[in-house]
Amino acid sequence: MTAATPAFDVIVVGGGIVGLATAHAVARTGRSVAVVEREPRLAQHQTGNNSNVIHSGLYYAPGGLKARLAVAGCAETVAFCRTHDLPHEVTGKLVVATEPEELPRMAELVRRGGANGVEVHELDQAGIRVHEPHVRGIGALFVPSTGITDYRAIAEKLGELVAKEGGEIHLCRAVQQLARRAGDVVVRTATGDLLGRQVVVCAGLRSDEVARAAGVDPGVRIIPFRGEYSGFSDRAAALVKGLIYPVPDPAFPFLGVHATRGIDGHVHAGPNAVLAMAREGYSWGAVKPKEFLQTITYPGMLRVAKQHWRYGFGEMHRSLSRDAMVKQIQRMLPDVRAEDLSRAGAGVRAQAVKADGTLVDDFLFVDQGSGPGAILHVLNAPSPAATAALPIGREILERLTGERLAPLGVT
Ligand SMILES: Cc1cc2nc3c(=O)[nH]c(=O)nc-3n(C[C@H](O)[C@H](O)[C@H](O)COP(=O)(O)OP(=O)(O)OC[C@H]3O[C@@H](n4cnc5c(N)ncnc54)[C@H](O)[C@@H]3O)c2cc1C
Repeated sequence: MTAATPAFDVIVVGGGIVGLATAHAVARTGRSVAVVEREPRLAQHQTGNNSNVIHSGLYYAPGGLKARLAVAGCAETVAFCRTHDLPHEVTGKLVVATEPEELPRMAELVRRGGANGVEVHELDQAGIRVHEPHVRGIGALFVPSTGITDYRAIAEKLGELVAKEGGEIHLCRAVQQLARRAGDVVVRTATGDLLGRQVVVCAGLRSDEVARAAGVDPGVRIIPFRGEYSGFSDRAAALVKGLIYPVPDPAFPFLGVHATRGIDGHVHAGPNAVLAMAREGYSWGAVKPKEFLQTITYPGMLRVAKQHWRYGFGEMHRSLSRDAMVKQIQRMLPDVRAEDLSRAGAGVRAQAVKADGTLVDDFLFVDQGSGPGAILHVLNAPSPAATAALPIGREILERLTGERLAPLGVT
């Protein structure tokens, strides 16, 4: 390290939407900020490979961070897209029950929606047909505030705004170590050090690894769950008007395979949830033996496997067999056929799991110190963190500096 080592008020590790929203909030206050990203471009991982749905905040436990930040983020994401002329549409969505045992879970969603201030309409079969004539269900919820967008475009715009405010974006720089000192943190990368008075780690699939590289035990392990998508043929796409979701299984923090008409007009179904064999394991062929071994020998993962092996094998079967996948989709859309489906990419979820096998449900922030020399680790930011990113960024700024920013452009 030399006297010329670049220094910033805040350094953000990770150029996904959460890191960029945090850097944007910091830059809005006039503080100097740098984003340090290991990949050659922004939004390469979860942010650039997801369902692109602007979630309403319906599902989440009232009083939790997810509920508060998703509801705020839903409005703020739409406002941000309007201001910057980014692709988006407020389409509304259906949550469809196909079996009687799902009805009590649907009632619980109505309760949660009410408690979170989300508008929800209950529909009978005739009501379902008005919204989606080809959907079969015994009851459904219509949630008008749900929308669609392109999170990669939002992340790139945030990067542009950070740079415009004088912030720096450093690509191709993997952070290897974080060393806390009395008044700052040394951020070590292969191409040199940076100094931050405070550091925020938003490293998604590697956030636990970076926490350990900062000398802190994160208390969780990131388990990578791949979510694969199937594209619909034109014939099957004509059966879908908007967003069609199943009633989620409360045992898992995933929303279940849903059909979505994206902002580009294409319809896809997914994502499923299969254990990935590398942190960035986007296909069955992407295997890193050391990472996979670390995943499957983690006590928390062993407990998850013991408890949910039947579900896990079902998801693997659906991943490998188009016939099995189509059966899942036919529960809501009976006229879709196996030949209508084609592989359409995948994303990998960074899911924090505790050693006792608990899948962490809410967003998780861990403070390593406070004031100058502090590091804040974002250790669980799965769905709906893309929706909630703008309020998450403001929340992190407040935790770091005590300064509270108003949301941008929400009327
Ligand atoms: C299949 C799928 C579907 C989803 N659907 C939705 C949806 O419809 N709506 C929604 O709101 N949310 C959805 N999500 C969740 C959403 O995508 C994530 O919550 C959000 O993108 C998290 O953003 P992030 O910035 O924390 O992570 P990421 O986008 O993964 O960014 C983390 C960044 O950190 C970088 N990094 C890692 N290690 C280092 C290091 N050592 N040094 C420097 N950089 C590093 C990575 O390269 C990466 O760019 C979905 C996620 C998946 C996987």
